[in-house]
This record gives sequence, structure tokens and C-alpha cells, in this order.
Amino acid sequence: MNRQADASTAASAELTTAADTRWMARALQLAGQAAACGEVPVGAVLVSADGECLGEGYNRPIGTHDPTAHAEIVALRAAATRVGNYRLPGSTLYVTLEPCMMCCGALVHARVARLVYGASEPKAGAVASNFRVLEEPKLNHRVVTEGGILGERSTALLQAFFVARRVRNRPPSGTQQAEGSTDVE
Ligand SMILES: [Zn+2]
Repeated sequence: MNRQADASTAASAELTTAADTRWMARALQLAGQAAACGEVPVGAVLVSADGECLGEGYNRPIGTHDPTAHAEIVALRAAATRVGNYRLPGSTLYVTLEPCMMCCGALVHARVARLVYGASEPKAGAVASNFRVLEEPKLNHRVVTEGGILGERSTALLQAFFVARRVRNRPPSGTQQAEGSTDVE
């Protein structure tokens, strides 16, 4: 094997990792904006093959009365509007939390090339946790996936959000509250 090619492949892999971390940090900022609006903190950024940000979004189904307004969908819509095409080939979607089934479907429709996500979502996660939708052999498009990028920061943000919400929703002392009613969706 060509040694020079090896070196350049390794260098580009390192660059990719640095870029992944940078874009995920931006997605985490967006997740913080969701939390500030009282929405579950999830943020997403769609980046072109050339490394240009095409669209951003954060979770906002409550504020917009829209069950589809997950961060991924918001970012995909913004990007598709910007480029004037519902197909976004070669792009990478960065999202702070493992996508659900709906968002995995949207990634396939948009022909997104790569998905990079932060924390795993044990209940609704459809990439690796609860389902493996993107590995379905009948799909006509493959999305390369990578999880766990800045995952601890995403988890910390989500945990802080739910702790704060529990405190806010705590009933006056002396009354009882049902357990297990604090989940996301
Ligand atoms: Zn979703």
C-alpha cells in the first residue's frame, strides 16, 4: 500500500474528527436555545460536503404546535429551502441526540450521506438503541452513522433540563406525585 496515501488518509480522518467536534459543539449551543424555550434540549446542524453550514435547528414541537418540529427536521427544512432542493446529497447531519424513526426517515428522503449524533436515546432512538431503521436492507439509500460525539455534554444538558423541570413542576409539599412521568416524548 502507498505510504503517502496512508498518511493523507490519516490526516483527513483527524480533520474530520476535529470538524465533527466543532459542528457538534454548535449543535449543543442550539440545544441550549431549545432548553431556554422550555423545549427538550436537542440541536442539529446540516453541513454540506464542502464543510458549509446549510441549516440549523433546535427542538420546538411545543412552541410551534408541531409534532414534526424535531431539531433534525427543522435543520433539514432550513437547508433544503436554502439550496432550493429537497435532496441534500453529500451532506452530514449533526444532532445532539440519537434520532427517532421519523427523523431517520427524513434523512433517507433527503439523501443525507452521514449522520453524527451525540447521546444515545434508549427509548425513541432509531439508529442503534431501540431500532436500527437505517440498516433496513430494503432502504434505497445508506446513511453512514457515528454516535457518541460529545455525548456526555448532550446527556448533561438533557439531565439538567429534566431536573429543572421536575423542580418547577413539583407539587406543594404534602401532596403526592406519580413517579415516572418525566419522560421526553
Ligand atoms: Zn426525531
